[in-house]
Amino acid sequence: MASKYVYLFGGGKADGNAQMKHLLGGKGANLAEMANLGIPVPPGFTITTEVCTYYYEHGAVYPPDLTSQVEEALHWLEQNMGRKFGDPERPLLVSVRSGAAISMPGMMDTVLNLGLNDQTVQGLILETQDERFAYDCYRRFIAMYGDVILGLKPEHKDERDPFEEIIDELKEKRKVEFDSELPASDLKELVERYKGLIRVRKKVEFRQNPMDQLWGAISAVFNSWNNPRAVAYRELNEIPADMGTAVTVQAMVFGNMGEDCGTGVAFTRNPATGENVFYGEYLINAQGEDVVAGIRTPLPINKQQKTDPNSLSLEETMSEVYGELERVRSTLDRHYRDMQDIEFTIQKDKLWMLQTRSGKRTGFASFKIAVDMVREGILSKEEALMRVTADHLNQLLRPTFDPKAKAEAVRDGTLLAKGLNAGPGAATGRVVFSAQDAEKWARQGEVVILVRIETSPEDIRGMNASRGILTARGGMTSHAALVARQMGKVCVVGCSDLEVDYQKRRMIVGDRVIREGNYVSLDGTTGEVYLGQIPTRPSEILRVIIDKSLSPKKSEIYQDYMALLGWADEYRRLGVYANADQANQAEEAVAFGAEGIGLTRTEHMFFEGERIDAVREMILAQDLAGREQALAKLLPMQKEDFKGLFRIMREKPVTIRTLDPPLHEFLPHTEREIHSLAAKLGMGEDLLKAKVDTLEEVNPMLGHRGCRLGIVYPEITAMQARAIIEAACEVKQEGIDVHPEIMIPLVGHVAELENQRRVVERTAEEVMSRYGVKVNYRVGTMIEVPRGALTADQIAEVADFFSFGTNDLTQMVFGISRDDSGKFLPAYVEAKVWEHDPFHRLDQVGVGGLMDIAVKKGRSTKPDLKIGICGEHGGEATSIDFCHRVGLDYVSCSPYRVAAARLSAAQAAIRETRAKARTDEKEVRNSRKGSASASTRKR
Ligand code: PEP
Ligand code: MG
Repeated sequence: MASKYVYLFGGGKADGNAQMKHLLGGKGANLAEMANLGIPVPPGFTITTEVCTYYYEHGAVYPPDLTSQVEEALHWLEQNMGRKFGDPERPLLVSVRSGAAISMPGMMDTVLNLGLNDQTVQGLILETQDERFAYDCYRRFIAMYGDVILGLKPEHKDERDPFEEIIDELKEKRKVEFDSELPASDLKELVERYKGLIRVRKKVEFRQNPMDQLWGAISAVFNSWNNPRAVAYRELNEIPADMGTAVTVQAMVFGNMGEDCGTGVAFTRNPATGENVFYGEYLINAQGEDVVAGIRTPLPINKQQKTDPNSLSLEETMSEVYGELERVRSTLDRHYRDMQDIEFTIQKDKLWMLQTRSGKRTGFASFKIAVDMVREGILSKEEALMRVTADHLNQLLRPTFDPKAKAEAVRDGTLLAKGLNAGPGAATGRVVFSAQDAEKWARQGEVVILVRIETSPEDIRGMNASRGILTARGGMTSHAALVARQMGKVCVVGCSDLEVDYQKRRMIVGDRVIREGNYVSLDGTTGEVYLGQIPTRPSEILRVIIDKSLSPKKSEIYQDYMALLGWADEYRRLGVYANADQANQAEEAVAFGAEGIGLTRTEHMFFEGERIDAVREMILAQDLAGREQALAKLLPMQKEDFKGLFRIMREKPVTIRTLDPPLHEFLPHTEREIHSLAAKLGMGEDLLKAKVDTLEEVNPMLGHRGCRLGIVYPEITAMQARAIIEAACEVKQEGIDVHPEIMIPLVGHVAELENQRRVVERTAEEVMSRYGVKVNYRVGTMIEVPRGALTADQIAEVADFFSFGTNDLTQMVFGISRDDSGKFLPAYVEAKVWEHDPFHRLDQVGVGGLMDIAVKKGRSTKPDLKIGICGEHGGEATSIDFCHRVGLDYVSCSPYRVAAARLSAAQAAIRETRAKARTDEKEVRNSRKGSASASTRKR
């Protein structure tokens, strides 16, 4: 049987449905779903993504059955609409749109009004009695034909769209502001001038045959799957390159047939804040792309959303249509159980839905919608947890402007303009006017704000490189707004007071001129743009948790945040600890929900204040006595630090690591520093220099560091163990049952751990008997050397716990330096030699493979062995998922990542349960099949 490549939809039914995104693309699948729901959609058909794959695999050739299937579908469409394609009297006009399974807004191509030519335009005039309208459609189609099918684009970064340039020139000549003010005769002239532009630039004629136009558009959409902006978008969003796009061909409905027509884009909830309010924009007498392209600034759809009392909302101008749109909104929001981004057109007071898809939103909105939908009974807690990402939660911790500084800025008159608040947060940076410059400046370490008249998909890399984005045109659903929100960038759009001049690299606002490199500040929450730099301050959540300047009761976001994390805790199995070296960090970690400290790097405590002198004295001592004298100075300081940590962490485990880095890192290097230290220590400068030289190592990361220090200088480990246990005894005397866990770094051989454990135990026994206090302490090790992982069964004999140091483990498993890899890793990732930086995302196959061995071997010796991770990967979502699967007990990460790690841990548990349920189902199905065939055999 021939494969089915074309799926019909319309008239209350469809061949496909929303589950078929992989085949019909998001757009096609959702149009089918809407048709099935009885929502009015213009009929049409979708060519599957399989055709796209075939097309690329066969050198731009279609499967043999496609032509006949498309022709048949077109015939069905003609009958359904009572029109004919290419008919000079009642022409069928179609739109041709792209649509991948994962939405890539604006990245691929669309053609509208297809089917128009010199004859059919007459039919359209006859039918509508509106010559102006017909020529407007025709000139738009020719421009799209030129752009999309023939690739007629601006030739350099400072050039504007050449078709737009022609129309602007004509508007200037006619002294009018809007396209809609041009009469039919001008539009007719534009048709000819556009054809001329194509002839001159592309050396071909505009095609009159509608079938040629259709196949041209279908190929253009398939080709656009691999255009540079789509490729860049997929890279940024990690969308697989082999998914392909579908093509949807749909009967045109017109929003530009007069004052009883219009077009709009809306979100079923506010995409910036997540509030459960209908949010959208529309334009009267306009065609679809006008709203998103940012050419005219659209109007709000309802009264609630109005900022300008003189503007008229759809609710006011077409109340019945608005009422129907409201009903569609609530049907779709509930049916899809998610916020939808919808496109609609009104043709002669009749509402048509053109698209629905899950709406892009800020992290903030994503979080709010998920929490609200649980409360509204739409989602289960489990579903809500799977809807929010670690990144979304992190966005909630973004800064806002310091209100005092902002008030001052207002007083100083630095408010430049106000636009739409498309991406919340606060950003200050230097202005650049092109995406390329944004990338270039960012590479040089500058924080930039990208200013454009409007952005286009070509700009996404530059947008990604910018701290904030500001556009002069466009609404909340413009390209800039959508993309910025998804990237989590601060963004203000539709700031019509800006006169941007790309050539002169400046913008003028009133009488002020802002040039490239000047500072501006964007408030993406209010839409304000200020001249100069405004200091920022922590997010509302941080104000409750960290500064304590806001009461939890007064912050709804904080309460929602805690609710979601509370749900996460119901699902997760992994413990979440924090890496913290100081009391204030521990306090922050606990406030974010840390259940222990997984790593205290004691060496970080060595750099504070005067301590470094004692550390240096210890390192430079000539003999044991000298070293002990210096260590005695460090002891009380370390003890106080540990007491601080214990008091905050109370009964929770506190993992303290003995000294790890090469000693050389603590020593001075410049002449001046050596000179001053020599004076302080009363040591000859030459002698000091010689000592520094002897401590210098060719490869310090593989040198005298980790437990090797404590083995050569046991007095260092002894001092640290004493400080820990004395602190524990003293805090225990205060009535807190502390749980120190002493961790020995860089162990590759069980004998190393045995050696250090003896030192710790001897010291601990002595201290505890002196205090008459029994402390429940453990001695464990980091697993961060490959040999340590491979001999974990032996090491577990001596260890009470393991903690994977995946920073070092990655370094040693790959044989790449943590310090030097910055020189080549980005190139590796860029060239796709590796998909990710393994220091950022755990390499689950290699490093993870070793971890798996270590977990299994360790637990073969001690089934209850406590195992965690304290490398940077402990705060990264995919790595946390791996840690869950491999059976770790906890992850430990920096305090600010703790909340997101709780979420990731819950998601890992949910994923596992879901996968198990799927396997069980399969097994049951297979066993049923098996028993069915067995019983058949018997008979
Ligand atoms: C590690 O190696 O993963 C680790 C946590 O230790 P450090 O980064 O201090 O070497
Ligand atoms: Mg390490």
